[in-house]
Amino acid sequence: MAIAHLHGGHVADGRDAVLVAGGGGFIGGHLARTLSERGVQVRSVDIKPLDEWYQIPEGVEARQLDLSALADCREAVRGIDTVYNLAADMGGMGFIETHKAECMLSVLINTHMLMAARDASVGRFFFSSSACVYAADKQVDADVTALKESDAYPAMPEDGYGWEKLFSERMCRHFREDFGLQTRVARYHNVYGVEGTYDGGREKAPAALCRKIAQAVLTGRHEIEVWGDGGQTRSFMYIDDCIEGTLRVTTGDSVLPVNVGSSELVSINQMIDIIEKIAGITVKRNYNLDAPKGVRGRNSDNTLINEIYGWEPSITLADGLERTYRWIFDQLVGSWSTGDRTPQPAAV
Ligand code: NAD
Repeated sequence: MAIAHLHGGHVADGRDAVLVAGGGGFIGGHLARTLSERGVQVRSVDIKPLDEWYQIPEGVEARQLDLSALADCREAVRGIDTVYNLAADMGGMGFIETHKAECMLSVLINTHMLMAARDASVGRFFFSSSACVYAADKQVDADVTALKESDAYPAMPEDGYGWEKLFSERMCRHFREDFGLQTRVARYHNVYGVEGTYDGGREKAPAALCRKIAQAVLTGRHEIEVWGDGGQTRSFMYIDDCIEGTLRVTTGDSVLPVNVGSSELVSINQMIDIIEKIAGITVKRNYNLDAPKGVRGRNSDNTLINEIYGWEPSITLADGLERTYRWIFDQLVGSWSTGDRTPQPAAV
């Protein structure tokens, strides 16, 4: 696909500009905004039409390109010093359990982005991997032992999405070893926050639960569907911590894939308790045991990130959910006032 749209600022050919691949998405949008606010020249690229991007920050050059195509990757990296590769065809459990082939096709994005970056002699290349690379047999208990980086091997990641991420992590390593491209890899654990997906089928548990409880407030029907029995455990990282971690990993010297995730473990039921408190209601929980649930328990072991960067995510779930709930509530009120009162499909 040739460049279909160009919007906003323009990255002059020079060696200090950054590319945010997947910049129309949730994390990419926040990253582009943070970098731009810090005075960095940013080009953001996404396959989505510009009017569907979560945000196009002031001064950011925004382009619609298909990064699964090598020619578009070459176009995207022109004049770029640092690449943040966040582009992927992904979503929450409801999406990745039912779209395994599509998740694996993100390998085209990652392969072509690496080739284009190598050929353009890009200085740094960041890849957003995932906690889904971890071996399934280490995540069968809700009372988890947090996952440390070495738990990715022997490999038995999440089917589809996780295998693709693990393969692409290794491809980053080999491009570094064989071609000298300076790759950096973070394994994100469940990122949530404002300006992200909260409906449509790709949303994740925090946004889905905030949406359902906000809808309960708005409709007066204090009842929600919960996927699974609510006993499954996770940790959730607020978007601001994700951006901070991404910048630290990218600019740091360590080449090791590292967890970027919160270590505050909660069950889905405990997360619902927190959102209920924020919303000021309690809801009847209808557990759907046949819905996609993912692994039983997962937490981030932050020993390595602390050792290398002297830092780890610290925004509490209560704080992050407060901001996220308020934002989603306002979005729903906004869409209702424009006449769309259709209850959204359930997804937790
Ligand atoms: P997102 O879906 O909001 O953003 C990804 C963006 O990539 C989307 O805007 C999408 O349109 C774009 N994209 C897909 N195919 C493309 C293509 N061919 N060319 C150009 N753009 C394309 O997801 P996100 O939550 O912002 O995630 C960003 C990255 O972080 C992804 O690689 C994801 O796998 C990874 N990650 C996210 C989480 C999380 O909890 N959000 C957890 C672990 C890893």
